[in-house]
Order: sequence, then C-alpha cells, then structure tokens
Amino acid sequence: MAVELWQQRLRQSITTVDELVQRFGIDPEPLREVTARYPLKITPGYFDLIGEIGDPIWRQCIPDVRELETGGYADPLAEAHYAPVPAIIHRYPDRVILLASNNCAGYCRFCTRKRKVGSSDHAVSFREQREGIDYIAGDSGIRDVILSGGDPLILPDTVLEDLLARIHAIPHVEIIRIGSRVPVTLPERITTSLCHILRKCAPLYLNTHFNHPLELTPDSVAACALLADQGIVLGNQTVLLRGVNDDVATMTELLRGLLKIRVRPYYLHQMDLVEGTAHFRTPLQTGLDIIRSLRGPVSGMACPHFVVDLPGGKGKAPLLPDGISYRDGKTLIITSNGKQVEYPDVTAG
Ligand SMILES: *Cc1c(COP(=O)(O)O)cnc(C)c1O
Ligand code: SF4
Repeated sequence: MAVELWQQRLRQSITTVDELVQRFGIDPEPLREVTARYPLKITPGYFDLIGEIGDPIWRQCIPDVRELETGGYADPLAEAHYAPVPAIIHRYPDRVILLASNNCAGYCRFCTRKRKVGSSDHAVSFREQREGIDYIAGDSGIRDVILSGGDPLILPDTVLEDLLARIHAIPHVEIIRIGSRVPVTLPERITTSLCHILRKCAPLYLNTHFNHPLELTPDSVAACALLADQGIVLGNQTVLLRGVNDDVATMTELLRGLLKIRVRPYYLHQMDLVEGTAHFRTPLQTGLDIIRSLRGPVSGMACPHFVVDLPGGKGKAPLLPDGISYRDGKTLIITSNGKQVEYPDVTAG
C-alpha cells in the first residue's frame, strides 16, 4: 500500500538528542538519561515551530532534566483500577475511554500517560482492542465511547475505519468522541479520506489539544477547517502549563483563536500529579484567576471549564473562582469578579 504523506512526515520525526544538538547546539549529555526513560518524538512541522530555546513550543516537546525528579504518582488517576479489561477505562457509568493506541505523533513532556506513551510495554494489542469492544457491546449502559490513547488518529485509515465501524454498530452507543492532538502536531494527517471515515460515524466529536496560540498555524487551521466542513464537531482540551500558557493574555489569544476556527474550548485542565511533570504544574489559584479574568471580557463561547482530575480516580471536578451564599434564606449573595452581588431568589421559601 502506498505510504501517505502524513506517514512520511511521521517517519521524519526527530527522535534523538543528537538531532537537537545539530539545530540548537545544546549539551546532549544530561538529556540522554531523560530520553532513556521517556522517549523523544517531535514531528518536523512541530519542530519548525520552535523559535528559540525555552519558548512555549520548546517547553512542550523538548526533554528536560527536571522530568527525572521524583514525586507525584505514575498513575495519578488510578486508571489501572478502573480498567475492567486492559484497553478500557470505565470510571463513569455511561461513558468509557477506549485506549486505541499508545502511540502519538509526538510526545508531550507533560503527558498524563507519560508512563505509557511510546513504550512497547504498554502497546495496545489488537486482541486487547477487540476485548475492549466486546466489553462495550456487553454493557448497555454505555452510551458515549471516547477513543483516546495515545492518539487514535495515528492509526492507518483501514484500521481506524474498522475500529470505528465496530463501535458505531453497537446499538446502545449514542456518540463517539476522539481525543487527538494530530491537528496540532501532524495536521497532514487530516485528509479528505480520514474525514469521510469520521463522517460515517456521526455523531462524532473530535476534541483536539491546542495549548498555545503559536500552534494556530496555517496548516493546523486548515486541518480544523477540513474537519468542520465535513461535519465533525470540534472541541479543545488545553492543559494549563507553567511557562507556556499560564497567563491571561496568552490564554485569551488562544481561546479566541480557537473559536475563530470553529473549535469550541471545552476543558482547561489543571496539570495532573504525574511523576516527572512537577515543573509544569501551577497552583490551583492560577487557573482560578485566569478563569475569573476571562469571564466578561472574553466571549462565553470561548470560556472552557477549568477542571481538576482528583487523585485516586475520584473523577473530574469543575472549579469555579466564585461562589454563592444565602442571606436570610431568600437573598442569594453571588460573588462575581470578586464583588458580592445580591440576587433575589424569588422561588425560595
Ligand atoms: C474525562 C474522562 C471522561 C470524560 O468526561 P467528560 O466530563 O464527559 O468529558 C470519561 N472517562 C474518564 C476516565 C475520564 O477521565
Ligand atoms: S498527544 Fe496526548 S497522549 Fe500523546 S503525548 Fe501528547 S498529551 Fe500525551
């Protein structure tokens, strides 16, 4: 079978520290230990986005010695505990994550599944995937299947088409979601034939993963346009990252930019307590302050939910900067933008 353009690009990815030395002249030695533990992979397109050492693109994809610091959890969300079969994470009654692949177009240094991505020990076998599909077919309470990984769109068209068709054929599955960063890291992957495959499984939601306005390139914008034109509903999940997007101006530019290309911001994630990612983590207050600053100045359509995934598999909790309290049982005190406002609750009492 002919090798597609995106597959060629993927094969040209940067995977060694020596390639970083060639372009940036950095000292390779400290990084070798890091990549021995957590593999390095950057697509040529994403690599070209790096402007200078330490910039927001660099931080997301270039190994850092701080990844070797201990502390945090290998599996903070206790996903292993919620895996009835190896390819499934079933934490909420009506929806499951199906791990479609443990590979990605590139490896993000802050990844929550850092311990797994790109490691052959955690590859999802064909048999495990079939077991996962059987599990979904056997539980009529599951209405929402989220393909994740790794990155499901790294699979070749034929494999992906077969996988999606099997899930789509299960009568109680109402919607399919795909979580994928390829519109950002490998936009060439979004081809017309891929869109046709996705279209056949409507309603299908694709949540992508932009973290910084520099990632809104002509190629990634075109990839999103192609998907949206084909009727794929697009959302975005951003991870709040120290030194990358943890300020109001950057976040505002990102969120407005997404809305302009028909990608609806869905979640802003507090960095999970994953081992080897502490240098990316911001205090919870940072996220709360950003959300508070967005409300009002920025279109509500552009404002994501700020969520923290609670350790031990307790689930996602939305965090709001402000709250509500009662005065005399009838009047609500709503705190908004740091100010207390009275609101007559006419239905109370
Ligand atoms: C985040 C997550 C989901 C999806 O949650 P939504 O809030 O519906 O987007 C499902 N399963 C697991 C295990 C999750 O972590
Ligand atoms: S694309 Fe997603 S799963 Fe893959 S390394 Fe990045 S954050 Fe992790």
